[in-house]
Amino acid sequence: MIDDRGENVDTLIIGSGFAGATVARILAERGEKVKIIEKRPHIGGNCYDEYDEYGILVHKYGPHIFHTNDQDVFEFLSRFTSWYDYQHEVVGNVYGKIIPIPFNLNTLMIVFGEEKGQALKQELIDTYGENARVPILELQKSSSQGIQEVAQYVYENIFLKYTMKQWNQKPEEVDQSVTARVPVLISYDNRYFQDKYQGMPKDGYTKLFERMLDHENIDIELSKDAKEDLTFDFENHKIYYLNQEFKGKIIFTGAIDEFFDNRLGQLPYRSLRFDFEHYPQDYYQSKGVVNYTVSEDYTRITEFKYLTGQLCQGTTIIKEYPEVYKDNRQVPYYAILNPENIMMHQKYVDLMKPFENFYLLGRLAQYKYYNIDGIVKAAIDLTKQF
Ligand code: UDP
Repeated sequence: MIDDRGENVDTLIIGSGFAGATVARILAERGEKVKIIEKRPHIGGNCYDEYDEYGILVHKYGPHIFHTNDQDVFEFLSRFTSWYDYQHEVVGNVYGKIIPIPFNLNTLMIVFGEEKGQALKQELIDTYGENARVPILELQKSSSQGIQEVAQYVYENIFLKYTMKQWNQKPEEVDQSVTARVPVLISYDNRYFQDKYQGMPKDGYTKLFERMLDHENIDIELSKDAKEDLTFDFENHKIYYLNQEFKGKIIFTGAIDEFFDNRLGQLPYRSLRFDFEHYPQDYYQSKGVVNYTVSEDYTRITEFKYLTGQLCQGTTIIKEYPEVYKDNRQVPYYAILNPENIMMHQKYVDLMKPFENFYLLGRLAQYKYYNIDGIVKAAIDLTKQF
């Protein structure tokens, strides 16, 4: 296929977040000519970062912290960045009291006091084992009175109001995998993630993406809605790119419902509004992220300097306000996982199945709750099929 610049294209990739960029790099290194079409005026998807007017590196679409246990993923990304060794810690603000989140044995002692805390700790260890990770909905099933007391505290002070803000649903109503992301930890580890590899790209995510996409076989077109250049013949299952039949691969990483004008229904998402604030002091809060688990309309405040290790005067924070996703003037951040929505998404998958060489990949296209490493892994795995 020859594109409008007179160049060959073997693979078209819609979107330049971690899904698109990973596939692009791997295929380009195999000698394929790759063309990326990106709707936004920049690469990097929601991980895009930039310096704000005060010279502070901020994540424009909300905080993204890398962590993985997957050595292949870590090694692949490490080709394009070195890392700032950031071990992410989160605290909750519970009626003014600051407690480590996930709820762990340190939190237990703060909340219940040493004496009672030690007894509860023993019971937790005897029941679940040292270093266990127990989802709140699991903890609630315990018949022990002591563990019930812990579960009730965690449910009411950490999960209930935060989850209502984030999802407009109770913890037991959202898909279990969502609250299980933040289990109760039977250990004194205050870190949010226990993965083997964690950190932040030393020069930021955007630089990582720039290096990943800097390859002679990769061509990127920014500020371009792929809808304008692609047409689908649903009767004959042919795809046209710039009015010519396209027989190469297409890796689609955007929102599939929006791309096809919601023809099989609009997939529900949760969105976020971000308020950035700058302060002249060195630091605003005690950790990179403070979750507001019982109060405020926002869910959490992130202070970027902790995440990036940047040393400079002044500090920039971001407050996250969850919103209903209405239309594409917002960003569809989170798929709302329930049987009905997953079925609707499956209809889009089925719609595209007869198109050979059309692949859906990533948080939006697959309507999944992926972390960065999960997306990179899925992208690496996809390229193994080719
Ligand atoms: N959650 C909560 N309170 C917290 C942290 C998390 O209720 O202090 C719940 C909430 O439902 C949230 C989910 O756990 O959506 C997953 O949290 P995580 O921090 O993994 O969300 P993400 O960073 O992906 O937005």
